Amino acid sequence: MSTLLVKNARMLVTMDAQRREIADGGLFIEDNRIVAVSPTSELPQTADDVLDMRGHLVIPGLVNTHHHMYQSLTRAIPAAQNAELFGWLTNLYRIWAHLTPEMIHVSTTTAMAELLLSGCTTSSDHLYIYPNGSRLDDSIAAAREIGMRFHAARGSMSVGQKDGGLPPDSVVEKEDAILKDSQRLIETYHDEGRYAMLRVVVAPCSPFSVSRELMRDSAALAREYGVSLHTHLAENVNDVAYSREKFGMTPAEYAEDLGWVGRDVWHAHCVQLDEPGIALFARTGTGVAHCPCSNMRLASGIAPIRAMRDAGVPVGLGVDGSASNDGAQMVAEVRQALLLQRVGFGPEAMTAREALEIATLGGAKVLNRDDIGALAPGMAADFVSFDLSQPAFAGALHDPVAALVFCAPSQVATSVIDGKLVVKEGRLTTVDVRAVVERHNTLARDLADRAR
Ligand SMILES: [Zn+2]
Repeated sequence: MSTLLVKNARMLVTMDAQRREIADGGLFIEDNRIVAVSPTSELPQTADDVLDMRGHLVIPGLVNTHHHMYQSLTRAIPAAQNAELFGWLTNLYRIWAHLTPEMIHVSTTTAMAELLLSGCTTSSDHLYIYPNGSRLDDSIAAAREIGMRFHAARGSMSVGQKDGGLPPDSVVEKEDAILKDSQRLIETYHDEGRYAMLRVVVAPCSPFSVSRELMRDSAALAREYGVSLHTHLAENVNDVAYSREKFGMTPAEYAEDLGWVGRDVWHAHCVQLDEPGIALFARTGTGVAHCPCSNMRLASGIAPIRAMRDAGVPVGLGVDGSASNDGAQMVAEVRQALLLQRVGFGPEAMTAREALEIATLGGAKVLNRDDIGALAPGMAADFVSFDLSQPAFAGALHDPVAALVFCAPSQVATSVIDGKLVVKEGRLTTVDVRAVVERHNTLARDLADRAR
């Protein structure tokens, strides 16, 4: 067994049951789990390794519940800069049809590097397009190399344009092949144990790109293996109109009809979730991945997060794919969640501490986990630190917790995941970021050339 003493944090945010914020706080860690959280003076003073967090704010690692990491290859594409969801997708599908396995691997590493440096320690990724031999295994390999806790969502699209769906026929898969590959991935990779670094999720892309049958069969498969379900729902008014026209139901009614509600299900966006939908999600424990930056970029609207939280709906945060939120920065997403609720529902709609809670405990709940999202004995050793001497925080140190959310988004100084130091003094220890980004940019150019 190896031990790690984390000491002298200016402030340590626990997100434990009492929501303690501990001045001069510290942690004692054995292998990959926390065994003690308290003022530094009350902790054992010797350990195999020591991290001195003097002048730093320490918080639980942030949890990202929605992403499409491959989209880092298609940021700020001119044809998709100024469109709403359906037009945006139509312009991008034809480019994504040229993705390769290496592109998936390298873009996932790039996206994870960006997330890690912004305080995220656990992320989900929703990969739903598999051209030219690409597999979810390509993303999983990237997560293992970089050391991120990962919920790999096996997305899918099966209804192409000729059958009334949105995606081109060239990028959809056969439904039996989708289910078979999902089963293979669960059997090969899914770890249901406490402190799991890798879980597999069954995740048809959206009601407008798969059939009713695939939604039902996916739910049955996920429940046979005890894995979670994820998709997009009620993202904007066109999405709701499609659901009414095609299925004769609201998105929430459709989800219920398919068995897509429960603690093992979370839906991205839900910007247009109506009152009965909110009540349904609260009653069934169905989770929501709130993606404020993406919702603003695509002009989808303001998700009713205040109403969802008041009703008891589990809500986590998601940066969403890099083509609809070109910055995968978790602290920026926390800040945007707070600001956007206030634009929609007034200055008391969300506090800094609630925004931070959504990004930690909220995300953990949405991913159906009780071993991450808080710093307490028995929890996974996932935490990050921010150096409070940065100019961004100047003048706000009377409340370093609020400072993290209200001031300009910062990068982490330290990130520890599963007890391992992944970011040290602001630099990743597991991959050569410069080399990864250079390769990523070459591949982004290749992808654009292939699509021309
Ligand atoms: Zn998405």
